Amino acid sequence: MLRTKASKHAIYGVVIALLAIVLATLAVAFVQSSALTLETIVAAQKNNAALWILDGMPFIFAFWGQYVSSMMAYEASAMLVDQTTDLRAHTVALEAQATRNATHDQLTGLPNRFLYSDRLAQAIIMAASEKSNVAVIIMDIDRFKEINEAMGPYQGDRLLKQVATRLQNTFHDPETVARLGGDEFAAIIPRLAQLKETSQVIRKIEKALEAPFMLEGLKIDVRASMGVSFYPQHGTDADTLLQRADVAMYAAKRNRAGFLVYSPRYDECSPQRLTLMGELRHAIENEGLVLHFQPKVDLKSGRIAETEALVRWAHPKHGLMLPDEFIPLAERTGLIKPLTLWVLNKALKQCGVWEREGLQLGVAVNLSAQALFDLELPDIVTGALAAHDVSPKRLILEITESMLMVDKERALQILERLSGMGVRIAIDDFGTGYSSLSYLSKMPVNEIKIDKSFVLDMHENKSNAVIVHATIELGHNLGLSVIGEGVESAESMARLHALGCDAAQGYYMTKPLDAGDLSAWFESQRNSGLLRIEAGDIRLISGMPQAQDV
Ligand code: C2E
Ligand code: MG
Ligand code: MG
Repeated sequence: MLRTKASKHAIYGVVIALLAIVLATLAVAFVQSSALTLETIVAAQKNNAALWILDGMPFIFAFWGQYVSSMMAYEASAMLVDQTTDLRAHTVALEAQATRNATHDQLTGLPNRFLYSDRLAQAIIMAASEKSNVAVIIMDIDRFKEINEAMGPYQGDRLLKQVATRLQNTFHDPETVARLGGDEFAAIIPRLAQLKETSQVIRKIEKALEAPFMLEGLKIDVRASMGVSFYPQHGTDADTLLQRADVAMYAAKRNRAGFLVYSPRYDECSPQRLTLMGELRHAIENEGLVLHFQPKVDLKSGRIAETEALVRWAHPKHGLMLPDEFIPLAERTGLIKPLTLWVLNKALKQCGVWEREGLQLGVAVNLSAQALFDLELPDIVTGALAAHDVSPKRLILEITESMLMVDKERALQILERLSGMGVRIAIDDFGTGYSSLSYLSKMPVNEIKIDKSFVLDMHENKSNAVIVHATIELGHNLGLSVIGEGVESAESMARLHALGCDAAQGYYMTKPLDAGDLSAWFESQRNSGLLRIEAGDIRLISGMPQAQDV
């Protein structure tokens, strides 16, 4: 448009040049003849060479203006073309990104649940026509929540990315691996001729995760629980197959089985989680929970000065459920606060009962991260102690080491208040977390509990025995008392004693029992001459290993 029309600037140039000619001609005519008539003007134009040059100016301006604006127009249109091309490319990239975001997980770049379901549906159609099988694998990282809490979400994301990369390297097309969300991954094995091929793939996944992951210079061992379902045995549509692989995965997690293939009996122990949540709330409010107590024995004196309170759920359909089956659910749904409150009150109430019965028996209560970081916790504890008229020195709160690392400042603040009241703090499952020792030494902690995974087989497993030994030394060097959990045999008990461990807890003495059964246990031990109760002091007098026995 600009190029075909006369330029505005050329027209201005011509007008200015014409005005200059008129003015100059009038001036020359007047100066030469002292009069302004048509003859004097014509004469000026005829005789003055300067005016001739000026007469040429409109043409020069017209040409120059037109030329410059043509050039500008060319440049502008070239720019316009370039920008349009850029814009188009950008739009295409954005559209591609939007499509990718809808079908892929942004963190790991793996297909998401949507694309996974779609591919699974396609694999099912293909298998139906070929009369072959499809395997659906769902995988969930064990204790990812703890790692995430201990190391922070950034490191948690890094771990997920590393897991995704390793999984991707395990699977080649047409096998598909996806991230379903959180720490849950899934894979499809289409066209399975034989179901047992699945276990080879599972072994490949396990192998891929075997080498430790590096996060912030720390080596982290990652294990995963996997659930498998097969088309057509366990379902003929994508949703059913996914749901059943999920049920199998939860069963594998609960049983620490590594992986399990779906079976209808897992449905029973994995009831719809929503129903379970409602039932748990009801159980907390209506005395549906049960508290068991497990004694801790002093290895030098045989004294039982404390018990650990361990919650169970007397479920009307599923029987007595263990905490591992419902504490994670309570943590996810905010029910952990009322649950902790119930346990704390019930435990302190029992403590008061023991006191009135003349028994000096303290109680340890387990705290979840959410309960620990509740700023109201110190007040809640003070209130509960007062309500049941129990001295703070009878109460121990058990927390895990990784909890301390989540928010060090806050943990220190809350623990100092509790410790200031006289409540003791124990670090539970010691050795399984990722705490910093220098930090631990600054915390107002009184005891550490060596995780049962190290104690259970310490008499056969040399490296676990070394860990137990080192932990006892470390605890003592930090001025802490050390207790071994998971003592199932006389040998473990003797070994712990020989290593200087202060106390022991485990099935060897007794499994956790409700208050009534615990009294009965004391009574039966007393009747067998194995236990003495004097002035409220409970002591095992026999069966205690002597150092020279070891
Ligand atoms: P924990 O605090 O480490 O408790 C010790 C667990 O080891 C208990 O399992 C106990 O029954 C088990 N145990 C004790 N001695 C032996 C033994 O000799 N051999 C073996 N194999 N196991 C032994 P339980 O009762 O199933 O509790 C599991 C976990 O659930 C507890 O681990 C604790 O972290 C959590 N928990 C229990 N009660 C509560 C609670 O009231 N609140 C919270 N937040 N968590 C709880
Ligand atoms: Mg505990
Ligand atoms: Mg423990």
